[in-house]
Parts: sequence; C-alpha cells; structure tokens
Amino acid sequence: MLEKYCPELSILQIPLRNKFRGIMVREVAIFRGSAGWSEFSPFLEYDDAESAVWMTAALEAAHQPWPQLYHDRIAVNATLPIVEPAQVRGILDRFPGSATVKIKVDDFERGSLVVAEVLEINPEMKIRLDVNGGWDADQAISNLLEYHLRFGKVFDYVEQPCVSLEELAVVKPEVPIRIAADESIRKNLGADFSNFSRFADVAILKWQPVGGFKAAKKIADEIGLPVVISSALETGIGISHGLALAASFEESSLACGLGTVALFEGDICSPATAVEDGYIEVKHREPIDFERYLASPERAEFWKQRILRVLQLIEGRSA
Ligand SMILES: [Mg+2]
Repeated sequence: MLEKYCPELSILQIPLRNKFRGIMVREVAIFRGSAGWSEFSPFLEYDDAESAVWMTAALEAAHQPWPQLYHDRIAVNATLPIVEPAQVRGILDRFPGSATVKIKVDDFERGSLVVAEVLEINPEMKIRLDVNGGWDADQAISNLLEYHLRFGKVFDYVEQPCVSLEELAVVKPEVPIRIAADESIRKNLGADFSNFSRFADVAILKWQPVGGFKAAKKIADEIGLPVVISSALETGIGISHGLALAASFEESSLACGLGTVALFEGDICSPATAVEDGYIEVKHREPIDFERYLASPERAEFWKQRILRVLQLIEGRSA
C-alpha cells in the first residue's frame, strides 16, 4: 500500500532555528507520485482522522497536475515565532524584502515589545498578529484596542484572536483591526461557511490542513472573503504546493505565509525555497541532499505505521 500511494517515501527530521508551536524538530514524510514530489506532515498530536485530510492533499499533489496558475511568484510575509525582541532582527533578515510580518503573540506585553522592535527596525512594516485563539472575547477587545492605541494603523489584521466563531463575532465590530480566521476554518471543515463575514474579514487557508487544491478552492468560494495562503510549517516540497495554491487565485492576493522554510535549519529543495525581494517563485521542487535529515529507524517506523493507518482510513471511505 505504501508503494502504491507513496512511492519513494522518506521520513525526515529537520531542526528548527527557534521553537515554533512548541517544537524544535519538524518531522515530515516526503514521497514522489506521477505528478511530482509531495509531502505528508500532520503535526504529531493530530489523530488519524484529521491526518487523513492532510493525506488527501498530499495524494492529490503527488498524482494530479497543479491547477491553472495565474502568477509565477508569490509575495510572502516574514514570520516571527514567540521570541525575545533581541532575536527579531536576525529572524527578519531571513525574509529579505518582505513588507509584511506575522508575529505570534500570546502575552499582550511581550507581544507589544516585539511589535515595537519590528517597527524600530522597519517603521513601514505591515503587521499581522497571530494569537492562535489564545484570548477570550474581553481580552481580545481590550488587547486589540490597546495595540491600536499604542501603535496606530500599522496592523494588517489579527489572526484568530479567539477560538470560537461566536467570540469572533463579538470582537469584530468592537475593534479597529481586521480579523482573520485560521483555526475556525481548518478545524471546522464541512461546516457552513456562508455568512462568514460576520466573523472575519480575511480567510487563512493552508494547503494540507484544508485537504488540497480542490478543497481549498471550494472553501474560498463559499467564504467569499480575501484569502491568504499560509504554510503548515512544511518543507519546500509542501511549500511548493502552497505557492501553487496561492497562484491559482486569479486576483493577486495578499502576502502569503509561505516563507517559513526560513525557520528551518536547512532547506532540502531545489530550486531553493528562500525569499527574494519579498517573493518566492512558484515552481515544482525536488528534494536534494536530504540524507542528513533522514529520521531514526524508530521514527521512520512510527510514520510508516501512521501513514498506513491513514491510507486505510481513506481507502475504507472510498470503498
Ligand atoms: Mg494561524
């Protein structure tokens, strides 16, 4: 079954430069189908049912051609994990030319120190905050009003300030910063996404977590809001598909969160997935020189078993 769906499978462990989502090493599976290389990399805490959505995306990209593309390069934002202000410059330097930065925020004060540092380095920077649902509605309203008061109109949007749609609907009319929905979309696949403008102004879509190209297009159509394609911290292989997804939207979209290979210790791809002048080229990518990141036999076996279970789940559904 592995050979049928996921030929030339390799399991990799790639160290990160800074802790991100609580991890220091990113584990991924890459394989090559008839249409090119693909990636299956649900985070370790995701169960088989949720991972099956990621596998649907991975199989589609491996075995079917890309959708029609309207752009040959995609503008990307810089991405700042939760870090100390002193680390900001070094990380921003890895996103040359990016005019937008997404800052992960948990604590309001710590976040505002990072915002201040970014603006010190580049007063023109457009700022996105990503709270990953960390605040309740009251906290979100007071924190966002305070950010606006301190820094003015530097904010592009705030991503997922609260977990639930009900909370987003409460926060949205109370704050002068646009709201973007991320988890609200990918954790509620199959929900009714009409009337989504009650909750958010921007939709964040991710190639693997929403289930691939066709699934993402369908959701974007239903939601009817401006779309930002973002990564799930994939290698350049997964990122190449995220770039293709972004390029499949005819209207030139907002800067995308696809520069995250810069957060890895190394890129495994040719052509490289680096940001140049604020953009990354939309191209198929191949892994090169990845032997140094091959996972231990134990981790490789864990992933093979995981992949087999997920494939069986998908086969069972389509049978
Ligand atoms: Mg997010």
